[in-house]
Amino acid sequence: MRQPLVMGNWKLNGTKASVEALVKALIEPAAKAEGVEVAVCPPVIFLGLVEKLAEGSRIQYGAQNADVHTSGAFTGENSPVMLKEFGCKYALVGHSERRTLHAETDAVVAAKYEAIQAADLVPVLCIGETLAQFEAGTTNQVVEEQLKAVIDRCGIASFAKAVVAYEPVWAIGTGKTATPEIAQAVHAHIRGYLAGFDADVAAKVQILYGGSVTGASAANLFGQPDIDGGLVGGASLKPDDFAQIIAGAK
Ligand code: PGA
Repeated sequence: MRQPLVMGNWKLNGTKASVEALVKALIEPAAKAEGVEVAVCPPVIFLGLVEKLAEGSRIQYGAQNADVHTSGAFTGENSPVMLKEFGCKYALVGHSERRTLHAETDAVVAAKYEAIQAADLVPVLCIGETLAQFEAGTTNQVVEEQLKAVIDRCGIASFAKAVVAYEPVWAIGTGKTATPEIAQAVHAHIRGYLAGFDADVAAKVQILYGGSVTGASAANLFGQPDIDGGLVGGASLKPDDFAQIIAGAK
């Protein structure tokens, strides 16, 4: 009953030419992926281009980050309202690279999540443990704390209009994918934790897996009962690999 969602996170990559080639290459796989939603998150500077190229296709798109403010003296930022105007459906929030490289705390992430929803965008809330936390066996506790910060600020009902992405930090860009069993166990824990607040919301929320997903690993991951698709970095820049990942979500 949950629609699979495959989302590409292009991070800080691309040129006008490569963005055009990538979107064009994605139109057909997206059209064929009946029942699967396909989305990409380009760098914001390419949003206008993606808006034009994706028009009339099944490709949705979003931003990798958004500011908490709507407008004002915040040099260098992009507001959720602006993202909405460019046709974004989604905005990532709390990606581990934002948390570590830009010191985004759970409180900042919760405030951004709220601002994203206020602009009528769907936040894709990224959570996940570091390698040290994984090895210490505290994964469940870490993801609970990351979720709790958002629940405290925005309420459990807000998850009816959000997506969760579980991305173990040790798997991001490292080539070390979590096994389907490991990922499924954490996804089930996340859903169970949310169900403690609202069982209906928890049953409906899409929980994506992210971290070195490839065409080869996608189908087994997405075949797990609580994995509703993927947030894909590196492989989303390779059209053939990304098409295979999309096909794996059916
Ligand atoms: P990766 O990135 O697929 O390159 O590991 C995933 C992400 O950071 O969203």
